[in-house]
Amino acid sequence: MSKESPDLRTFLDYVRRYEPTQIVTISDEVPLDYTATAMAFELERRGSSPILHFERITNHDLSLLANVCASRDLLAKSINTQTENFYETFGTSLDNLIPAEMVSGGSVQEVVWEGSDVDLNKLPIPRHFAQDAGPYITAGMLAARDPDTGVGNLAYIRLQVKGSRRMGASLHSRQHTWDYMRRAELKKKDLPVAIVIGAHPAVMLAGAAKMDIDQDEYDLAGALLNQPLPICKARTVDVNIPANAEIVIEGHLLAGTHEPEGPFGEYTGYVTGRSTENVLEVSAITMRGDAIYVDIIPGNSTEHLVLGRIAKEAWVYKRMKEVLPFFVDFHYPSSGTHYHCYVRIDKSAEGQAKQAAQLLVALDHYVKLVIVVDKDIDPVDQESVLWALATRMQADKDVSILKDTLCNQLDPSSENGLGAKMLIDATKSSSFSAEKISIPENAKRLAESLLD
Ligand code: MN
Repeated sequence: MSKESPDLRTFLDYVRRYEPTQIVTISDEVPLDYTATAMAFELERRGSSPILHFERITNHDLSLLANVCASRDLLAKSINTQTENFYETFGTSLDNLIPAEMVSGGSVQEVVWEGSDVDLNKLPIPRHFAQDAGPYITAGMLAARDPDTGVGNLAYIRLQVKGSRRMGASLHSRQHTWDYMRRAELKKKDLPVAIVIGAHPAVMLAGAAKMDIDQDEYDLAGALLNQPLPICKARTVDVNIPANAEIVIEGHLLAGTHEPEGPFGEYTGYVTGRSTENVLEVSAITMRGDAIYVDIIPGNSTEHLVLGRIAKEAWVYKRMKEVLPFFVDFHYPSSGTHYHCYVRIDKSAEGQAKQAAQLLVALDHYVKLVIVVDKDIDPVDQESVLWALATRMQADKDVSILKDTLCNQLDPSSENGLGAKMLIDATKSSSFSAEKISIPENAKRLAESLLD
């Protein structure tokens, strides 16, 4: 390796040193189940989402880290950019992948549990919501290789612990892992996999990215880090893993085997039993000597919504920019989970708002409601978006509804995978003549000085 490769530890050191308010360390001993979820949701209610490090978990040796990816600001800094340039930086990385570098073993294999030593119950895997079927690994990125081409893939998969070496898995988003499994099953073969827990945020972002099936997410992680990601071979399966990850669980997704999995609290804020009901049998667990167990707070937590979407947003943003010269930016408000999007355009002709909304729902089938606003409205400021809706929109002309379109099946109000899209043009029409109120600059400055 040319230089020391950044990992989760170097990122945490950076946060502790330069962003100390963005990490909270809990040194009191706490119970494993529900504590991280309750703490994260309570802090959100109070307006913040810092990284949470629980140093002492009852009956467990490993510490637990949550909310690593809850802050867009920290995620941007982790890949050496700023929040306002995140999409551009991410988009450039998608176009300039840096191949991973194979090394012989790594710190993730300092501790090895094989054979009768394998025991998932020794890891601090928590229960998150009262309705969940059991403890769930939520930050597990499933690494596997295409059964036909050998290209690697990395993707988040929810995993329910069912025994010391058995887990339930759902591949319900039906993307690359699901397709690998389908093709392995056609050959009547189990799919070798490695579950990666705890890595630099660049790897966690790569795992959430939308890429072509012939591209390897490790190469995107390298591009985001601006240096090759060191990878090594797993011990019991033919899968490559990040050499400096915290914990890796090796095993197979079993061909032709299905067992109940779920229910589980999903990003919608509702409990869902939708599952492909796959089964993962564990063959080895390896970890760093003082491994940190990483948890993603599930449900509609800030972390789950941000990490689940930011990489996809960058992909959609790039295409919106490519096609629409008048597209400025967009924002997905947390209140809409993944279903609402506010789009800002610099309008020069009628019809552009509707075109932008149509392209957005074509690129992102999760979205059910698009509100398009003018360039003087900040899409991040929801009050401002709703003011534009109140004053620049007439429902008979400005609302379009597309029926029976593809939607995400976790939407509890959808039926058979179909739902409707509402496209709202809240931009000023060409006949709009009202002038916005304004306050003289010197009066604003006086007010600010009186208040300081
Ligand atoms: Mn992929």
